[in-house]
Amino acid sequence: MNVVAYQQVESQPGGLVVAIDGPSGSGKSSTARGVADRLGLAYLDTGAMYRALTVAYLRAGLSPDQTGAIEALADQAELTVTDDPREPAIALDGEDVSAEIREPRVSQHVSILATNAHVREVLTDQMRALIEAADHRIVVEGRDITTVVWPHAEVRVLLVADPAARIRRREAELAGAATTDEVHDQVVRRDRDDATVSEFATPADGVQLVDSTHLSLAQVIDTICALVPTPTPTPQE
Ligand code: C5P
Repeated sequence: MNVVAYQQVESQPGGLVVAIDGPSGSGKSSTARGVADRLGLAYLDTGAMYRALTVAYLRAGLSPDQTGAIEALADQAELTVTDDPREPAIALDGEDVSAEIREPRVSQHVSILATNAHVREVLTDQMRALIEAADHRIVVEGRDITTVVWPHAEVRVLLVADPAARIRRREAELAGAATTDEVHDQVVRRDRDDATVSEFATPADGVQLVDSTHLSLAQVIDTICALVPTPTPTPQE
């Protein structure tokens, strides 16, 4: 994999890649799905890919120090992504794991996979292939989309929110399915671990910062859709 080569690729004519990065609980998923739906684009949740590999890790009963086995898992596991924003889904080796990837134990262990350089390389390649398969017309959300996976996206956004607002949103999302400690772990501890591999606290050059703390979902979607460049009209003969 060659990240530098990707940074030099020009945008594809007619392509519209909307890259949205941000910490957990910033409202990324609802926003990204809403933007994709509004603009008629496909949708890719890259966190779901890390989560699906974590399901494979847990099923295999591995421990964090079994690096070789973790890397082999990334090479062998077959992830199938459904990129419909209204019904996103992910399958691991042919089995739909869309519900299982949201379980707190998956959130607790996902950093083990996400901090492995080989796992990141394998998944980054798969993400790029999925963007190409969608003819570059897709909303992609994650932690390193604007910086590593697709830095030449037509729209690049870093979506942030105050930690207190993010914890409140996660609590509402999990609706009693997790304890306060688990929610805190999912937001604060995971931010800390994630920050060791991707810089998503401050926007990279050319990345628009959108703070959703005091905005409704509809307002965030409006804000991001307004960033889509309008095509230059072709000169009349
Ligand atoms: O977005 P979500 O919270 O579902 O992501 C789950 C985990 O996947 C994150 O905590 C992070 O460790 C990892 N991740 C990543 N890079 C991405 C997307 C997710 O490292 N592009």
